[in-house]
Amino acid sequence: MRHGRETPEQYRLRRQNQRGGRKIFQKKNVQYDLIATLLESNLSIEDVLVYGRGDWKKFSIFELQQKLNEILSLETDRHLLWNYLKNTGGYAILPIDGKLVTLSRLALERRMGKCPPDKDLAAHDPTCPFKNCINYRHLRWATYSENSLDRFI
Ligand SMILES: [Zn+2]
Repeated sequence: MRHGRETPEQYRLRRQNQRGGRKIFQKKNVQYDLIATLLESNLSIEDVLVYGRGDWKKFSIFELQQKLNEILSLETDRHLLWNYLKNTGGYAILPIDGKLVTLSRLALERRMGKCPPDKDLAAHDPTCPFKNCINYRHLRWATYSENSLDRFI
């Protein structure tokens, strides 16, 4: 429904239902995916730190790598959302040494060491609903089958 067609009462109820929505709805070009995930997961905007708005072209690769290093050195339980550049699946990526690197994998490698031989990929913890979250605390090495089982937990 277009917002202009809502009655004031419908508008009030919609806003009331949007926990944490007030701040983000004030901005234009809001990230509706983020808001939807926050609402579905019963999270508030305070639970996330958002980096970038798909605006990676404004920065040099070097600047983006510096931002990445800063983010990866953080110790926090908040979701660290990399929005500068994502692949079509919605995962955080960045060119490093001429290769497109998946940042969830890089975050785990930096903090926990290389992927063990019996694991396949960097998987998000079932409690983290964000594909582009690069907080190593929300990631772990998993096999493909462990990762697909998580979806049903
Ligand atoms: Zn997370």
